[in-house]
Amino acid sequence: MKILCINAGSSTIKFQLFEMPKEEVLVSANFEKIGESNSFYSFKINGEKIKKEIELENHKVATSIFLNELINLKVISNYDEIEGIGHRVVQGRSKYSGSVIINEDVIKDVESYIPLAPLQNSANLMGISESIKLLPNIKNVAVFDTSFHQTMDANQYVYPIPYEWFEKYNVRRYGFHGTSHKYLYNSIKELIGKDLKVITCHLGSGSSITAIDKGKVIATSMGFTPLGGIAMGTRCGDIDPSILSYIMKNTGKSIEEVTNDLNKKSGFLGISGISGDSREIEDGIALGNDRCRLAQDIFVNRVVSFVSYYYVLLDKPDVIVFSAGIGENSSMVREEIINKLNCLNIYIDKEQNNVRSKIQKISSENSDILCYIIPTNEELMIARETYELIS
Ligand code: AMP
Repeated sequence: MKILCINAGSSTIKFQLFEMPKEEVLVSANFEKIGESNSFYSFKINGEKIKKEIELENHKVATSIFLNELINLKVISNYDEIEGIGHRVVQGRSKYSGSVIINEDVIKDVESYIPLAPLQNSANLMGISESIKLLPNIKNVAVFDTSFHQTMDANQYVYPIPYEWFEKYNVRRYGFHGTSHKYLYNSIKELIGKDLKVITCHLGSGSSITAIDKGKVIATSMGFTPLGGIAMGTRCGDIDPSILSYIMKNTGKSIEEVTNDLNKKSGFLGISGISGDSREIEDGIALGNDRCRLAQDIFVNRVVSFVSYYYVLLDKPDVIVFSAGIGENSSMVREEIINKLNCLNIYIDKEQNNVRSKIQKISSENSDILCYIIPTNEELMIARETYELIS
């Protein structure tokens, strides 16, 4: 059965077509800079990469090109071969604690959650409406970033703010990257062969950490929006909220401008003044740049503060998992994090840690807690959920 995954962002759409349940990727395609003058798309098929620079006016044009290419490249001969489409949807509020087949009510809900995730949910909706228009006979499934986290207790998701804000305006911790954290939990459970207490560290351009007890999320670092939690590539993570009004008064910036600074000019980029990409931060450290060193120290400290808190919450985890761009690729960041956890009897095996993007145990034999790298695969998780729901 062929399942298509669609991850629509504000100026990008990523597609992956899977043969299920074999979990074979038949084709993957990225459409980038949609609506901009330098837009392009790339296809990966049979190990080959094809890239084309072409005007992509909007998401509809991108989706049509992708569907035409599926036929041109002979991936399929007929659209009826696709039996389900899984869509990433960022915000599903507490109503959606699992994936669902999309109908009019689901669309209305996703639309009504736009104020909680303006850029993300509206882009996700564009992906949904284009596939309904272009492939009207195929079932669509919504896979929410927030679903996996809906098992948290109120003492983890209610903020210490006026309770009315929670009751009337739904201000609470939702948590994000749920599809990735679920994939990581399922993978480590399968690898070790039993239910576990796990801390999953999704460390990429956006980063979040989750405490999972036998498949149930106990706590997660991201909050009301993906801006909260640990410091990230360009996002600030948790900060003292009075900084906002103080900066607005002193700079004359509007709330939108300050919020933009916290989303796009903070984290690694804000501190280093150089880049939001951890590779460039590591290069800066190698050249003796103090602000790159400071940016990485802050990032590592924030990760350690959540991991050690979750260690206590879980009453000692069995495994700590590292994943996503930084977690999978940066041996330096992993080593610095694990070295700061030595007082909890968590130790690294430097040699085993010297790898990139593969499943690998990286804790030493004398470590009390296992540490693993597991490459994440959100698209595969979306394909699995879609396959389960429609078959
Ligand atoms: P993601 O959002 O999961 O795609 O992660 C993207 C981030 O991973 C990039 O911005 C980089 O900071 C980081 N990254 C990717 N490759 C490496 C690497 N080899 N070393 C350090 N960081 C990396």
